[in-house]
Amino acid sequence: MATIFTKIVNGEIPCFKIAEDENYFAFLDINPIKKGHTLVIPKVEEDYIFNLDDNTLAGLSVFAKKVAKAIEKTIPCLRIGVAVMGLEVPHTHIHLVPMEREKDLNFSNPKLKIDPIEMEEIASKIRANF
Ligand code: 5GP
Repeated sequence: MATIFTKIVNGEIPCFKIAEDENYFAFLDINPIKKGHTLVIPKVEEDYIFNLDDNTLAGLSVFAKKVAKAIEKTIPCLRIGVAVMGLEVPHTHIHLVPMEREKDLNFSNPKLKIDPIEMEEIASKIRANF
């Protein structure tokens, strides 16, 4: 059965899309810990990032870098934090989180409530900077 992230890639589940190419896809996390919190995934379904083949992993990193640069241009921050957990969704994803301080990358922080209109505004600004 397709993962929830494959359904997002296929347009079966809506998302606030940031960017896409042949092999990779980026979209806003639905429960962000910071404004601009983005997930970057390979289109191939692989649960564990370190089980990706070398080329896919390398390409994912390069794609994530481009997305991070677009987030940096959009959301005031010191830098973009990177995290990979994958305990909830069994489809490799890199979290990109705008950070001002160390605790901004704490996934125990309360999730932000951002209304869909603002989520789309954030996504469209990041898209424009991609
Ligand atoms: P992890 O697997 O890294 O522990 O967390 C999965 C992440 O995916 C969470 O931050 C969660 O908010 C996000 N997520 C789960 N389901 C969806 C979804 O349907 N849409 C989006 N945009 N994000 C999701």
